[in-house]
Parts: sequence; structure tokens; C-alpha cells
Amino acid sequence: MSVKQVEMVLAPREPHYVGDGFKVHNFIPSAYGLTMQRMDPFIMLDYGAKFYFPPSTSKARGVGVHPHRGFETVTVAYKGSVAHHDSSGGGGVIAEGDVQWMTAASGVLHKEYHSDEFSKTGGDFQMVQLWVNLPAKDKMSTPKYQAITNAQIPKIPVTQNGGLVEVIAGAYEGNIGAASTFSPVHLLNAKLNEGGEASFNFPAHFNTGLLVIEGSVIINGTEDVPLDHFALFTNIGESFTIKATENSIVLILSGEPIKEPIAAHGPFVMNTRQEIMQAFEDYENGKFGELVD
Ligand code: MN
Repeated sequence: MSVKQVEMVLAPREPHYVGDGFKVHNFIPSAYGLTMQRMDPFIMLDYGAKFYFPPSTSKARGVGVHPHRGFETVTVAYKGSVAHHDSSGGGGVIAEGDVQWMTAASGVLHKEYHSDEFSKTGGDFQMVQLWVNLPAKDKMSTPKYQAITNAQIPKIPVTQNGGLVEVIAGAYEGNIGAASTFSPVHLLNAKLNEGGEASFNFPAHFNTGLLVIEGSVIINGTEDVPLDHFALFTNIGESFTIKATENSIVLILSGEPIKEPIAAHGPFVMNTRQEIMQAFEDYENGKFGELVD
């Protein structure tokens, strides 16, 4: 097994607001080099770096009713909590440490807001939303949710009291993650103590990167990755190490490329332009169901 090297380390881009509740830095697909094709099967990564929201007595901040089709949205909450409601009648709250894995597939309408409790108290808010593409054969399958509480996520200790690795999806050292996926995807949270060092192995051709959520780390003993920065790995070599220079949290993603054509327009990601047109038509004809704003 050979070492997987860092291809580049990227600083967060200027943030923008999604609705009025999510102040995010986009990495995939708009940061340098992190296109949908390069990061396949990861087609979008918005990072809400830690940001203080004051208490609010008016309507909860967030993003109103919108559709999705053709992929999955994965929300990882680090600080604060998010409430959601969808057109199938589902809903819930994603609290600190929890993950929501939503398979939009054939289509859902949903809205995402700060939870009522968080709105009342205010506080630090920090989260990631990752979009995972679906293979063509699964794009029109039935929508579903995996609401994954932190307690349901396997936690693998790192040697020498170095911390732990949470296995959200895929596997780590033979331990299977909490979420099921449609194509091979590994999604891990490494929560490392200062000085803690963990090793990772992914097939060379899997597209792989990491985001430093808290603290700062050194990859392979040579590459410094500061807070809120994204490191992209080359597709040569399989294994790398992460060492925490202070108490740190690192989100690690690695996935097998689906290698199918991508036609993307806003909240729809399909394989052809015709399928995008169909998505708009279905949306306008109410085929995504109903949801009140
Ligand atoms: Mn959404």
C-alpha cells in the first residue's frame, strides 16, 4: 500500500446565505478544482463555519419550501440544531452530533429551519450539507430518510487515547457505518485529541478529501491543514495519516466515482438535459407533493 498524497489545500471561499439561516462557504463544486466531475460522487459541499446567531423572537431562520430530485442530501450538525419538514409528512430535528441522510431520489419538497429551541436561545451554529449523487438506476427510486442520532453512529477508538472516529457511512477498520448508501461512500468524523493520530485507507480511485471543522491537523506528517480548510487527495496511493495539533474535528469523505453523465440545474441533478426539463415540468405540475411554507 502506498501513501495517498495531498493534491491541494483550499481556504474557504467568501460565504453566502442559503435562505436567511445558513451562512455557508461552498467548496464543491465552486472552489478551485472541486468540480462535480473531479469529486464524483460528491456533487455539492456547503460548509456553515461556526457562526453566532442571536436569539430570535420572529419566524425561525432558514430556507423555505424547495424541491430536490436525483441525489441525496446529507446534513451533519456540529453546533445548533435544524428542524425540517417534507411533502411526505415527515419531519424532525437534527441536533448536535446527529446526521440526516435524505434520499431525495424521484423528488421531495422540503424546508429547513433553525429549530424553535435554537431560535429562542440563539448560539453558535455550525453544520455541513453534502450532496451525494445517485447512480442513474436509482435516481427515480422512492424518497427516504435516515435520521441518525449521534448514539447510533459507531465510534472507533484511536490508539494511545488519540480520540475516536465516527463511522457515519461506509466503514472504518472493518466497522460498518450507520447510514446505508447506493454506491460505495465513506463518511467519517475524526474527533482527535491534541497529538492524536489516525490512519485511513481508501482505494486509490475513490475521490477523497477532508474538511477541518475544529482545530487544525497535519496530513502525512507534512501538510498543514488549518481550521475551515479543505484538503483534496490525489488518486494515487491509498493510505494517509491525520495528526491533530490541537483538539480537532475532521470530516473525511471518500467515494467511488459513479462515472455517468451529470446534468445539474439548481435542486435537480440528473443525467440528461431532458430529465432536467422533466423535473421542472413535474415540479410545476405538483408531482413532488405539497408543503406549506
Ligand atoms: Mn434542501
